[in-house]
Amino acid sequence: MGTRILDGLAIAAGIRSDVSQQLQQLPEWVGSPGLAVVLVGDNSASEIYVRNKVKACGELGIRSLLLRPVPTLTTDELLVIIDELNGRDDVDGILVQLPLPAQIDAKRVLEAIAPAKDVDGFHPVNVGRLHTGQECLSPCTPTGVLEILQRSRIPLTGAEAVVVGRSDIVGKPTSAMLLRANATVTTCHIHTVDLPKHTREADILVVAVGKPGLITAAMVKPGAVLIDVGINRITNREELERFFPGDAARAATFEKRGSVVMGDVDPAAYAVCGAYTPVPGGVGALTIAMLMHNTVKAARMRRGL
Ligand code: NDP
Repeated sequence: MGTRILDGLAIAAGIRSDVSQQLQQLPEWVGSPGLAVVLVGDNSASEIYVRNKVKACGELGIRSLLLRPVPTLTTDELLVIIDELNGRDDVDGILVQLPLPAQIDAKRVLEAIAPAKDVDGFHPVNVGRLHTGQECLSPCTPTGVLEILQRSRIPLTGAEAVVVGRSDIVGKPTSAMLLRANATVTTCHIHTVDLPKHTREADILVVAVGKPGLITAAMVKPGAVLIDVGINRITNREELERFFPGDAARAATFEKRGSVVMGDVDPAAYAVCGAYTPVPGGVGALTIAMLMHNTVKAARMRRGL
């Protein structure tokens, strides 16, 4: 059997269609769920993410409210905005786009979001609920990773799962979710002494580091499932040729844009594994679909449905 490509775009389309069905099934008195997105500053990547989130809401029939306070606002001023959104009945989900400008205490802001409206799943209450197996709003990217595995019918119970990366946004919650799904989980990080020793044991290898090509073919167990969360921009021609030898399509993109996007897995590892998520078109495709899912979930949970 050949290597399976786990198509994030197709899986995301399936999730959007499920969300659309859930929206249709909401009782009339609930109305259409509302998502408030707060964007502070002028980070160009954030602008694109926020635009895509607002667009996805529009396509599904979720109301979106984009707030763009002045870039110089203080933590206290942002807390006033969050407090107002917490109290609004027409707002089901609140998302504060990260990163926030340096003058703002991001931790205080994220902790001020009402846990019931915390569609990013970053509030300590939701983190605690995730770790204790309770119903919660869970972070979008890790939830997307689990959706890919489950919808692709990859067995999780008893599987050796290795997660490389332990950020609060991706690595840690992914480990928690895999554990909750009965995998045997190892979490690796910068202090891990012998990374290849761990990765070679993995039936499921999730990589969320942000280093292009960190995971080489020699680090992968034959037949393993590779979930590549990393998103890295390659601007160096030598790296392009090293990671994508003979790839005419990528070379053309590089000529046109001066860069290509790749994950944390060296594409040479694809020949060893049993299945993998491509970059782009893998995990990245799921994140916004999961945000839509969480917004509808928040709307339902808040009303006891
Ligand atoms: P962070 O920088 O917050 O975390 C990176 C993690 O990798 C840290 O835990 C760090 O360890 C670990 N690490 C760094 N170098 C090594 C190494 N050589 N060996 C083992 N572990 C290492 O990144 P994020 O978790 O936010 O993001 C990770 C990647 O995923 C990025 O490329 C990002 O762009 C992408 N991403 C993609 C998303 C999507 O698909 N929608 C969403 C979010 C992120 P330590 O903790 O010890 O420092």
